[in-house]
Amino acid sequence: MIHIAIDGPAGAGKSTIARALAAQIGFIYVDTGALYRTVGLFMLRAGVDPADAEAVVPRLNGVQIALTFSEGEQHVLLSGEDVSEAIRTPEVSMAASAVSAIPAVRAFLLSLQKELAAANNVIMDGRDIGTVILPDAQLKIFLTASPQARAQRRFAQLQEKGEAVSYDEVLRDIQKRDEQDMTRAAAPLKPAPDARLVDTSDCTLEESIARVRELVRDVLGY
Ligand code: C5P
Repeated sequence: MIHIAIDGPAGAGKSTIARALAAQIGFIYVDTGALYRTVGLFMLRAGVDPADAEAVVPRLNGVQIALTFSEGEQHVLLSGEDVSEAIRTPEVSMAASAVSAIPAVRAFLLSLQKELAAANNVIMDGRDIGTVILPDAQLKIFLTASPQARAQRRFAQLQEKGEAVSYDEVLRDIQKRDEQDMTRAAAPLKPAPDARLVDTSDCTLEESIARVRELVRDVLGY
């Protein structure tokens, strides 16, 4: 199987770029952030503080997650309910970041990710794909952009969806999540030694997709 790992901080454009690329080369796109978000959503709904490992861990056995793919789109199911939309709120983003620092949560989601990769040609995006989940990926990309550029993009997305948030709030959330994701002990966000760095601060989306597409062609011949 061929595996492409795309890691990087929130708002770097990972999911949009990976989705476009997957459609171009006929791979499955797996958004692993959706898994952490679903665990975060479950804990919020259960009234559990997502940062409280002692409260979160015993609840994990109640979390039933499945990923399905229809027409190339990933859907995430929580106990059979399609929560693909419900996990896209700022509150769930922060909950995802909190639960993802708990080693038992990462271990809980590991086999699902590995099984998907074992059975498919995948483009998988996340924070630890090149370092932990797919260390043998044939192509690893670390996608980044300045916090301001990332906040601007996330802000535009949220506005489009009618979410009432300010740019400053989005920037603050992004900086807080970066800090949490990079400094945690369990699988912190960092480039794999053999990852190719792509900085999209000054690129339009089309330019970013084209740069990554070029890497795929150069490295994998696809
Ligand atoms: O990519 P997305 O913003 O949906 O991820 C939500 C959160 O899930 C991230 O802030 C990060 O804390 C966590 N995550 C992770 N490992 C991954 C994917 C996401 O820790 N592979």
